[in-house]
Amino acid sequence: MTRTLPESLQDVEPYGLWTMNRRFLPMAYRVSQSESKGSHFGGGKVRHDGARCAGCDHILTLLWDLDLTDNTLPRYARRAFEPATRIPLYVCWNCAASTYCVVSDQQIECFSFDEYSECLGKDESPFVDAPSELDSWFLGFERVPTTIDAVLSLSNVIGLTVLDSAARGQINEFYGQEMDDVWDLPFSQLGGEPMFYQRRRDRVCPNLKCPASKLTPPYGVDDFYGNFLMKELALIHWKDTPILEEHCFQMLYYVCAICASIRGEYRCS
Ligand SMILES: [Zn+2]
Ligand SMILES: [Zn+2]
Repeated sequence: MTRTLPESLQDVEPYGLWTMNRRFLPMAYRVSQSESKGSHFGGGKVRHDGARCAGCDHILTLLWDLDLTDNTLPRYARRAFEPATRIPLYVCWNCAASTYCVVSDQQIECFSFDEYSECLGKDESPFVDAPSELDSWFLGFERVPTTIDAVLSLSNVIGLTVLDSAARGQINEFYGQEMDDVWDLPFSQLGGEPMFYQRRRDRVCPNLKCPASKLTPPYGVDDFYGNFLMKELALIHWKDTPILEEHCFQMLYYVCAICASIRGEYRCS
C-alpha cells in the first residue's frame, strides 16, 4: 500500500534515514553519569502537570531530562517537541511503562496503555519500593564512532561471535576490555540503534489522535517497517542509573515520527 508522506515529515532533513529505519537520531551517543556540569540530567523532580500513570494513577518518575536546545541534536529533533525545550523520559514504577506526549515544559499528557504497552502486573514490578523522585545527576554524552556504531548494529543482527577478528578488535578497543558476551554490550544510549535485551519490536503511536496509532496488521506490513513505525529514541540501562543499579533493567523509549509522542517499555535480562 502506498501512502502519502505526512506534511510533518516533508521537510525532515535526513528523510532517507526515516524510511525503513528504526533510528530517531542517525547518530548514537553513549550516555553515562558525568562529573562535569551540563544541561542534561538523570533523575530530578517531577515538574510536569499530568505526570501520573494513566494505568494506575501512580506518580511518574523522571529518569532522564534531556536538553533540546543542545545544538548537537538535529534541528528536526528539536522541532518535533516544540514548544517544549526538554524531553523528559518518565516511567511508572508500578507498570514499568509509560505512554505520553510532551505538551510543554510544564505539562505532559499521558495516554491509556494499549496492547503494545506490556505493562507489568501489580505484583510483578521489582520497582515498587523505588523512590518516585530520584536525586538528580549530570548526564554526559560520548558520540559513538560511526565504525563502532556500524559494527555493533551488525552484531545486533548477526551476533557478536560471527563478526571477524578486525571487528571484534574494534569492539574490544571501544569497551577497553575483551567482549565475549553479547549481554555485556548494552549501555545507556541516545539515538542510533540501542542494544537491548529481548528482541526488537514494532510499536505504533500510543496517541489515538495520531494517524500512526491506527496501524495494525494486516493493515500493511510495509507500513510497520516504514514511516509510521515508532523510532527508537533512547535506552536507559541499569548500570548507568544510580540507585537502581541492583535491578537488571532496561527502559527503551520510542518516539512517534508523526506527533513525537513517547512510549517507554521495560526490558529485563
Ligand atoms: Zn502505572
Ligand atoms: Zn503519533
